[in-house]
Amino acid sequence: MPKLNLSRLNQHHFLQPDQHSHTLEQKLSPRFERPQVRLTPSPYITEKTLAKRWNKLDSLTDKTVLLDEQTQAHAELYNKNIEHFIGTVKVPVGVAGPLRVNGLYANDDFLIPLATTEAALVASYNRGAQLITAAGGASAMLINEGVTRTPVFSFDSLANAGQFVAWVVTQYDHFKRIAESTTSHGKLHDINVNIEASQVYLVFEYHTGDASGQNMVTIATNEVYHYILEHSPITPTEAFLDGNLSGDKKPNANTLRHVRGKKVTAEVHLSKELVEKYLHTSPEKMVRFGQVTTTGAALSGGIGVNAHYANALAALYIACGQDAACVAESAVGITRMVLNEQGGLHASVTLPNLMVGTVGGGTGLPTQKACLDIMGLHGSGNAKSLAEVAACLCLAGELSIVGAFCADHFSRAHQKLAR
Ligand code: NAP
Repeated sequence: MPKLNLSRLNQHHFLQPDQHSHTLEQKLSPRFERPQVRLTPSPYITEKTLAKRWNKLDSLTDKTVLLDEQTQAHAELYNKNIEHFIGTVKVPVGVAGPLRVNGLYANDDFLIPLATTEAALVASYNRGAQLITAAGGASAMLINEGVTRTPVFSFDSLANAGQFVAWVVTQYDHFKRIAESTTSHGKLHDINVNIEASQVYLVFEYHTGDASGQNMVTIATNEVYHYILEHSPITPTEAFLDGNLSGDKKPNANTLRHVRGKKVTAEVHLSKELVEKYLHTSPEKMVRFGQVTTTGAALSGGIGVNAHYANALAALYIACGQDAACVAESAVGITRMVLNEQGGLHASVTLPNLMVGTVGGGTGLPTQKACLDIMGLHGSGNAKSLAEVAACLCLAGELSIVGAFCADHFSRAHQKLAR
């Protein structure tokens, strides 16, 4: 006899007995009274708008905590990064390293700033970095680049969609000129056509220099998008600047094999002795752990296989003025550990979606720039290095966490450092 299974619903919250149903309906109903607090409408930061906003917030919290002297002195610098500014939140920053990176672009021992409130995180990356450095460093190769915007055009028939595509493919050079007229560093290097019945998605892919590039590609594609709307011989019934094929801030299987931002692969060879000394376990056990957790990842339906790239990337992105929401796509990739011929561990990571930049976005803000400066990676010419450092940092974290599980130290480390 089939049974209604409510075990996954928290009945206490909303499946109330009859006598409470009125209350439930009341609680969930729309309300139309004026909000008691209305903030000043200007999104910009000036002394006047700040004072007005704090007039409303003063009774709720301690102003000097969010709007301390340093923040107040630099307030106007945040104008291009935030609206309705009221101050700054202080996230503690630790440093992991030195991490030796032998990359195509990054070639140095890096001290890496990590902003987090999670105990044990910096300690874990620091341990992995020490191990990698003791092994002579991690090799890293940036292997691909590209940031996309994907406008979509709808038609009322396949025939019209087909004719639109026939026109689009003759326009590549023209679209490239239009897109690149909006930026001196952005370069359109591919337009891919994806047809789903009478909807046509155009995938515009750019190289974005040292900027992570989301804004740059939006502005450039917008210019082409409007040109298309004005000049296409077939008028779409509807069109949108992005049809959600870009993978912006969403993990997706497509970019596991291709790229969004920067694709980097990194590896290290560790002797048995180094694994024992730093991780208190053996290469064999780490490889076996890799096998069972790869099966676990497949069972969970994950995209790629990794232990915790998100920890490294969130902390690095926050410290260094990257768009933290891009951790959603950046934390996708593959970690692999195998035994090498000497019985040591050959560990590698491949991250195809590192959305990092060393100019633009939040990279010029005071504390974020200071963090990039620790690594010597602020400004033009450094984005490829930052991507390689980010991949090696992820490798350090994978080694440390896998080591901790194998030595049965994972819980102990958190208990010691977080409680
Ligand atoms: P951006 O600050 O909008 O653009 C980079 C700027 O730096 C451009 O003005 C560029 O000039 C200039 N620049 C100077 N030297 C450069 C160099 N060596 N390489 C590249 N550019 C150089 O930054 P973005 O990376 O495009 O956008 C990042 C921000 O966009 C992130 O904070 C992200 O959160 C946000 N975002 C935007 C969207 C969106 O759709 N608008 C979506 C998601 C996120 P030229 O252009 O003349 O080269």
